[in-house]
Amino acid sequence: MQEIQLRARPEGSPKPSDFELVNWVSPTLSNGEVLVEVACFSLDPYMRGRMDDAKSYSAPVALGQRMEAGGAGRVVESKSDILQPGDYVFGMTGWATHAVLSDKLVRKLDIAPEYLSQALGVLGMPGFTGWFGLNEHGRPEPGETLVVAAATGPVGSMVGQLAKRAGLRVIGIAGTDQKCQIALNEFGFDHCINHRKFENAKDLRREVSQYAPNGVDVYFENVAGPVLEALLPMLNVHARVPVCGMISWYNAGRLGGDALTEALSAPKIWRTILVNRLSVNGFIISDHWDQFPTFLREVAPLVNEGTIRYIEDVTVGLERAPETFIGMLNGQNQGKTVIKIR
Ligand code: NDP
Repeated sequence: MQEIQLRARPEGSPKPSDFELVNWVSPTLSNGEVLVEVACFSLDPYMRGRMDDAKSYSAPVALGQRMEAGGAGRVVESKSDILQPGDYVFGMTGWATHAVLSDKLVRKLDIAPEYLSQALGVLGMPGFTGWFGLNEHGRPEPGETLVVAAATGPVGSMVGQLAKRAGLRVIGIAGTDQKCQIALNEFGFDHCINHRKFENAKDLRREVSQYAPNGVDVYFENVAGPVLEALLPMLNVHARVPVCGMISWYNAGRLGGDALTEALSAPKIWRTILVNRLSVNGFIISDHWDQFPTFLREVAPLVNEGTIRYIEDVTVGLERAPETFIGMLNGQNQGKTVIKIR
C-alpha cells in the first residue's frame, strides 16, 4: 500500500520534489470503517490551493500528510453494517492505493467497474459544479450568449453542453487548437478560441467579439487573468458571472500586484459591476451537496444515452500523479484528469 504525501509547500508552480511516494500500512479498522482498494482518483485544480498554508474555504494539507483527492474503488475489508467487501464506492481516498474511510463518508456506486471514473468527473464533483453554477448563478435564457474557458475540462464541457441544450450561443475558450476542435466536434460548442494565440487581452476580446456581436450574457468564470480582462468590457447589462475558479492565478501566491493589471483594478471591476448591474456570484460546490441527487437524476440519463459527452485523460500509476497534476495545472490535460492505479 502506498500514498503520496505533501513534502514541501510550492513557491509558484508545484515541482515533483514537493511530493513524496511512501509506503503505507493500513491501521486496524474501527467499527463503521472500510478499507478501500482504490481503482482511480481525481486530480483537480483545487488541490493546488490545499498545498498553500493560506486561509481558504478548506484547511491546507499538512506537510507529511497524504494529498487529498476523491477516488473510487472496491471495499476489500469492512467493519461496516452497510458496506460489504466487493462493493464499489466513492470517497475522499487521497492520492493512494488504499484508504480507510468511514461508511458515513462514502457513496456506494451502482455502476460497472469500467465506468467508476465517471464518479470523478462527468457524474462527480466537477460535472455537478458545472450544472449547479450554470443553473443557480448563470440563469441561462434561450438566445443568450455564454462564454466559458477551460472549455474541454470537466466543468467547462458540462457548462457548454448544458447551455447549448438550454438554447444559448456557446463560445468556448481553450488552450490549444486541438482542444478547440474537441469543444466544437465533441461537445457541440458554437465557437472556440485558442487563448494562447493572443498576446494580450485586447486582441482576445476582438476575437471573441466576432462571435458575440451582441455582447455576453453569461461569463462562467473558470480562469480569470487575461480572459477575464478580455471579457469584462463585453458583459451586457444584467449579465451573470458565476465565479467558479481562477486557475490562471492559482500559482501566484497571495494575490498581489503582480497578478493584477491596471485593467483589472478594483475600481474598474467594481464600476463595471455597478454600471452593468452584474450578478457576480462566487460559489463553492461543497456547500451544495444537498442538490447532488437532483443533478444525478437529471444528468446521469443524458450521460448514459450519450447526449452529454465527456472525455478523460487517464494516466496509469500512482507514482505519476505529481507530474500529471503539474501538467493539468499547465493545461496539458485533455478532459478530466484521472489517475488509475493500474
Ligand atoms: P480542467 O480539467 O479544465 O483543468 C484546468 C484547465 O485550466 C487547464 O486544462 C487549462 O485549460 C486551464 N488553464 C490553466 N491555466 C490557465 C491560464 N493561465 N489561463 C487560462 N486557462 C488556464 O479543470 P476543471 O474543469 O476541473 O476546473 C475548472 C475550474 O473550475 C478551475 O478553476 C477549478 O478550480 C474550478 N472549480 C471550482 C469549483 C468550485 O466549487 N467553485 C469546483 C470544481 C472546479 P486550457 O488549456 O484549455 O486553457
